Amino acid sequence: MYDLIVAGGGFAGVSAAVSAARCGLSVLLIEKGGSLGGAACNAYVNPFMPYKVNIDGEIRKISDGIFAEILDNLDKMGGLSKNRVTFSEEILKLVFDDMCEKAEVKVLFHAYLSAVSAKDGKIESVTVSTKGGPITLSASYFIDATGDADLSVLSGCSYNIGRETDHQCQPMTLCFRLAGIDKEKFDLNAQKEANELYKKLLAEGKMRNPREDILLFPYDSDGVVHFNTTRVIKKCPVDAFDVSAAEREARLQVYEMFKFLKENARGCENATLLSTAPEIGVRQSRQIQGEYILNTDDLKSLTKFPDRIAASNYEIDIHSPDGSGTSHYFFGPGEYYTIPYRALIPREIKNLIVAGRCISSTFEAQASYRIMPVCATLGQAAGIAASVCKEKGCNAIDADISLIQEKLIAAGAFIG
Ligand SMILES: Cc1cc2nc3c(=O)[nH]c(=O)nc-3n(C[C@H](O)[C@H](O)[C@H](O)COP(=O)(O)OP(=O)(O)OC[C@H]3O[C@@H](n4cnc5c(N)ncnc54)[C@H](O)[C@@H]3O)c2cc1C
Repeated sequence: MYDLIVAGGGFAGVSAAVSAARCGLSVLLIEKGGSLGGAACNAYVNPFMPYKVNIDGEIRKISDGIFAEILDNLDKMGGLSKNRVTFSEEILKLVFDDMCEKAEVKVLFHAYLSAVSAKDGKIESVTVSTKGGPITLSASYFIDATGDADLSVLSGCSYNIGRETDHQCQPMTLCFRLAGIDKEKFDLNAQKEANELYKKLLAEGKMRNPREDILLFPYDSDGVVHFNTTRVIKKCPVDAFDVSAAEREARLQVYEMFKFLKENARGCENATLLSTAPEIGVRQSRQIQGEYILNTDDLKSLTKFPDRIAASNYEIDIHSPDGSGTSHYFFGPGEYYTIPYRALIPREIKNLIVAGRCISSTFEAQASYRIMPVCATLGQAAGIAASVCKEKGCNAIDADISLIQEKLIAAGAFIG
């Protein structure tokens, strides 16, 4: 019997588990893969989207606390580039192992959460599928950091999926890397020319990838460029058959882009297809329907909730579920909104807190706070909240908010 079980070892889950363990809770972290890191490692998501804000002339981290610590640890181990946004996911795995070990979080890899036993509105145990057979595990409190709200849904919590109008989600993307690129030749001009040709071929119906342009990011390795440019639409990220079809379609899009660049782009003549991510990336799937549903008006009116536990100013960045196009809503300098604790609390289950990209919000609002820095801060808040609940023996919704906020600030978090 643990004090806390955290499901999912991405930025949210690791931050939650480590934060709770540092407050004295016995914590088990269960992860379906063989490493921690979530989308950063499973889907090659890179770099960190912006995590700073200018307040009265002072630039400070809007995602601070445990996220700043992760950055520093990456840096110490040589896994963070000078711009402090591009990172090595291999070093990240080591950083997360180390943080969990030092905090005495017990980590269970290759454990797929597959069933939940709940009674009178409380989770009693969860069952994970493993090579050795199913294992049932109990705890006083639970945190759902699976990204897809698996734990909440298995517990019977209500949720939304995709756009309110037709339940279509943001596209899935298989990130990949090309090696052997002459980066001096494949400069901004060469990239612009490649983009123009790509757009022409797309307009002529000659590309299978519906994305409007080629999205690439620098990667801190000689000759290697990172691509976040495939786009699989109209597939449900939590339907195994749809995801299987999406993986195959994305691989064809990767090959198409590889051939296109090799044949047409200056500096890519000797390119090789280095690797595709272990799995297709899911930007958005289920959002729980919690005690508060964060919406776009809250974001645009820069709401400072009384029960705020995290802050964000990342744009509302929607990759069109219909195919081409990406819409953006940018916040101005110094502007930010906050995220209320109630958005982490499902209505139906009393000893469950949700963290990361599946907290309670509308489709549009999720398109802003879903980035890795913010997910880390949501995890830190959930972990600290679990410790506050455990101390009083109370339900998640009844936790003392001012105590959570006090502890978050003491742990270096910025909550506005
Ligand atoms: C293609 C793409 C590009 C993106 N670009 C950026 C970017 O450039 N910068 C940025 O900052 N953010 C970006 N994001 C967003 C960001 O990567 C994610 O939203 C964020 O990492 C989510 O963190 P999380 O901890 O909530 O969930 P995840 O990182 O998804 O972690 C969830 C973890 O739970 C595990 N899990 C899931 N289900 C189960 C189960 N049933 N049992 C056990 N374990 C389970 C998973 O294996 C995973 O490790 C991008 C996302 C995608 C998909």
